[in-house]
Amino acid sequence: MSEPSRTLPLVFDEPRGRRKPPRHLADLSPAERKALAVELGLPGFRARQLSNHYFARLVDDPAEMTDLRAADRAALVEGLLPELMTPLRTMEADRGTTRKTLWRLFDGALVESVLMRYPDRVTMCVSSQAGCGMACPFCATGQGGLQRNMSAAEIVQQVVSGARALARGEVPGGPGRVSNVVFMGMGEPMANYKAVIGAVRRLTDPVPDGLGMSARGITVSTVGLVPRMQQLATEGIPVTLALSLHAPDDELRNELVPINTRWSVREAVEAAWNYAQVTKRRVSIEYAMMRDINDQGWRADLLGDVLRSYGAWGWVHVNLIPLNPTPGSKWTASRPEVEREFVRRLEAKGVPTTVRDTRGQDIDGACGQLAANG
Ligand code: SAH
Repeated sequence: MSEPSRTLPLVFDEPRGRRKPPRHLADLSPAERKALAVELGLPGFRARQLSNHYFARLVDDPAEMTDLRAADRAALVEGLLPELMTPLRTMEADRGTTRKTLWRLFDGALVESVLMRYPDRVTMCVSSQAGCGMACPFCATGQGGLQRNMSAAEIVQQVVSGARALARGEVPGGPGRVSNVVFMGMGEPMANYKAVIGAVRRLTDPVPDGLGMSARGITVSTVGLVPRMQQLATEGIPVTLALSLHAPDDELRNELVPINTRWSVREAVEAAWNYAQVTKRRVSIEYAMMRDINDQGWRADLLGDVLRSYGAWGWVHVNLIPLNPTPGSKWTASRPEVEREFVRRLEAKGVPTTVRDTRGQDIDGACGQLAANG
């Protein structure tokens, strides 16, 4: 594999010499938790009891763990349930059914997550890195560069915290559950592969080993890191894959998604197609509609042709995202009639197309707006 282009601020590995986030139950497999309990001088089954508190009861206050002896409780909580993050601010929109939380991690890094409640589902949009190294010029997170990868537990904790708020009836609409998780907050999930897979396993492992969610309800969104997309197809966890394409031609995509100079439109789409073949899951092509940049009729036709060149229909659908302008950006959203024409042309080619509902714009919680300014 050749080196990535030197002009790209790519960081695939953890910078050396940094302190790691504290080890947490949600970083570990059930077997590893058990081994750790034994290491702490406790019976192995205590790990499962603790998992039950964290993943099933959604409790992390030791006082509520009355099935554990006080001494064991202290050792377990210290060894396996350290505080990972503190909420600095929560902002609400849509009458409280959209909630964005700004989190401070153990080392001061800031990340955001967003809870969106709909009549039939609750979606949590989570961050996988503090910042992002992919440098897409229209994305707020991309402007600040990468601070660091998040741990699996830091990723999971965002979902657990939303699940807890829902279970306790803190979100309007009565008690509820998280049904969907989208890796569309800050960061490039495929550049933090190991922790993201760990987090997905914790989300999908049956209760009380994990949150017991369906893999179908989980969407991993990527700029198109092809080797990682290929690897994801082999994991045996059929999450939904979303590819952030944003342009059907390399000339424009090189500008909008700079990693395209490393893996082209064709390579990224082929990896998405391969994912669909292996997992039997329909993949999603994300396309942020930017006025006079990527919204021309000919680009809709070209996108349709690129996707159709993979033959049998049903493997893909296009999700158009109205661009959320970020401060200082020269780009803005497409005109409604232009967007309608884009949809019409894609559908004329036989490509199922939806337009993303953009919640939380007024709290800077919409796609690509998460910048964690404190
Ligand atoms: N790094 C991953 C996931 C994070 S962003 C990825 O790029 O897929 C989730 C989606 O929001 C991506 O499709 C991204 O391109 C899009 N996005 C980023 N900034 C945006 C903006 N200002 N308006 C609309 N969508 C945006």
